Amino acid sequence: MTIQVGISACLLGERVRYDGDHKRSSFCADELSQWVQYVRICPEVSAGMSVPRPTIRLEQHQDRVLAVIPSTGADVTDALIAVADRHQPQLAALSGYILCTKSPSCGMERVKLFDPKTNAYERVAQGLFARRLQQLFPALPVEEDIRLEDAVLRANFMLRLFIYAGWQRLEQGLSAAQLREFHACVRPLLTAQPQSLAALDELTEKAAAMTPALRVNYLESLMKALSNPANLPADSSNALVPLNEYFERYLPREQAAELACLIRDFLPVA
Ligand code: SF4
Repeated sequence: MTIQVGISACLLGERVRYDGDHKRSSFCADELSQWVQYVRICPEVSAGMSVPRPTIRLEQHQDRVLAVIPSTGADVTDALIAVADRHQPQLAALSGYILCTKSPSCGMERVKLFDPKTNAYERVAQGLFARRLQQLFPALPVEEDIRLEDAVLRANFMLRLFIYAGWQRLEQGLSAAQLREFHACVRPLLTAQPQSLAALDELTEKAAAMTPALRVNYLESLMKALSNPANLPADSSNALVPLNEYFERYLPREQAAELACLIRDFLPVA
């Protein structure tokens, strides 16, 4: 199965940044590229801006965050938001998105937000394309290149990516019984988060029939719960012990013993 992942084009080495350079991520370009098919978008270029171009910054204007070109005063807010809207059908097929850190267009979090009167800033904003993307697809797994350098966050993103892709393949015509089957498969991954697990158990057990609201509610709750990375390896015993018991039934004896050994070594000493 092909997994499609959206990505800020500069992370794949495309020279589309304001200064004509790129921000190539070797994990994205060399490693992950073997497993997924990328859909690359540079929102600023898609919004009609040139390479190179003047820099953009986010400014707080009363209750609105605007993307402004300080050297000209031009407001490019709507143009950046419109890129996500225009690409919506293409974005709907994605199973995840990797965004470029700190960018006023692509940054997922902690982007500089300026006070235009004082030029002071706080790192509290989200890039405008990134914000619209997450408004349109709230359950979509999204990460930033810098965060993917952390092994725990990377593993968590990969997990969410594959679960979301699995869900997308099921979604058409999904029945309540199939939802329960899907939930039974992902349940062990949630055992480190008992509250979320109980809520999702209840949601699926009560489901007599599949409705659009149930589908959205289940997916958003599941992806939110999974986006909270488990504290490895301390939180893993609840998930790994039952998984080990499950695989023991199907693996040849030698492989089952090897798996049990790996799990024992991984888990903290009780
Ligand atoms: S707008 Fe996004 S994709 Fe384009 S150069 Fe900036 S960070 Fe990279």
